Amino acid sequence: MEVKCNRLDRGFQLYRQEFEQKAIEVLRSGWYVLGRELESFEEEFAQYMESSFCVGVASGLDALRIAVYLLGIQTGDEVIVQANTYIASVMGITLNGATPVFVEPDIYNNIDTAQIENAISSKTKAIMVVHLYGQAADMDAVMHIAQKYNLKVIEDCAQAHGAEWNGKKVGTFGDIGCFSFYPTKNMGAFGDAGAIVTNNEVYAKTAKIYRNYGSEKKYYNEIVGLNSRMDEIQAGMLRIRLRHINETIEERNKIAERYMKGLKDAKLELPMVKEGATSVWHQFVVKVNQREKFMNFLDANGIQTLIHYPIPPHLSKAYQSLNMHIGDLPITEDYARRVVSLPIYTGMNEEEINYVVEKILSYKE
Ligand SMILES: *Cc1c(COP(=O)(O)O)cnc(C)c1O
Repeated sequence: MEVKCNRLDRGFQLYRQEFEQKAIEVLRSGWYVLGRELESFEEEFAQYMESSFCVGVASGLDALRIAVYLLGIQTGDEVIVQANTYIASVMGITLNGATPVFVEPDIYNNIDTAQIENAISSKTKAIMVVHLYGQAADMDAVMHIAQKYNLKVIEDCAQAHGAEWNGKKVGTFGDIGCFSFYPTKNMGAFGDAGAIVTNNEVYAKTAKIYRNYGSEKKYYNEIVGLNSRMDEIQAGMLRIRLRHINETIEERNKIAERYMKGLKDAKLELPMVKEGATSVWHQFVVKVNQREKFMNFLDANGIQTLIHYPIPPHLSKAYQSLNMHIGDLPITEDYARRVVSLPIYTGMNEEEINYVVEKILSYKE
């Protein structure tokens, strides 16, 4: 038997008729960028998030980069971010000329809030929280620190559509919430797409101008902007994904529950969910000591696994100018050596889940 890490075709087949109908509708409409589908999506996603405004953009990275821009953060400013994130979080900061200041993760793989205050300097302007692998970070602790030091808060929710901290959706605690709809995300488009949500009308208005060459009125450009618009087809597809988001979350929860129960006695560290948090299980990440051996064993049994992420941003070539070295962030580096993501996807069937559990239980260290 073969179990892939992800099966995007399954997620498509599940709502195939709705997707195909909408795609044809948009194609036949003769209007492809900044139109009715995007407006409707923005309204519906803001409503789902219980946020005042949503602005659709071209990708999750753009959402982050635009959020940092909207907060007026630039060269000379520092932004605190967790060190074990996907590198796009960091790029959202540095594309604006600002400097990332890394904080180690806690046992839940999210930012260790007890370490944030140590990272604050006179240059700190904001904290970027990443709800990694789909689990909400402790937003009470983050907001408390942000208020105490008068810092802005950006939430990277690229992996956490619909995750909650104490019953409130992530992306709505800080100043701006950033989302990715890359095809593999829980709410995946059929191409690239992203969005920001905010309760601040000025941020929302400026974002709409910034994403469109800095113009509100065609050919009257007020600022130097980007071309970062979510197209009509993606907006239409995402309206359908949004309609089914609760089913998606429920399904992933069931798979995660099966793994949690089935792998209790397996030779690995299971993920933990903090009290007060929910996870939407974008990834099911375990930690093992002999990762290569573990992954090879599964691979030999037809099970594909992935590493999120093998090289932490501070050690990547892209950020060698930060002049950081192995040993600077020992917890992050330890996680990078031991994390493995098990298959989890919309449309994963019983047989596949059972097979993964059974094979992992037969693994000997
Ligand atoms: C996917 C992801 C991004 C980037 O989103 P794109 O749409 O691929 O640009 C940013 N942050 C995190 C945590 C992600 O997982």
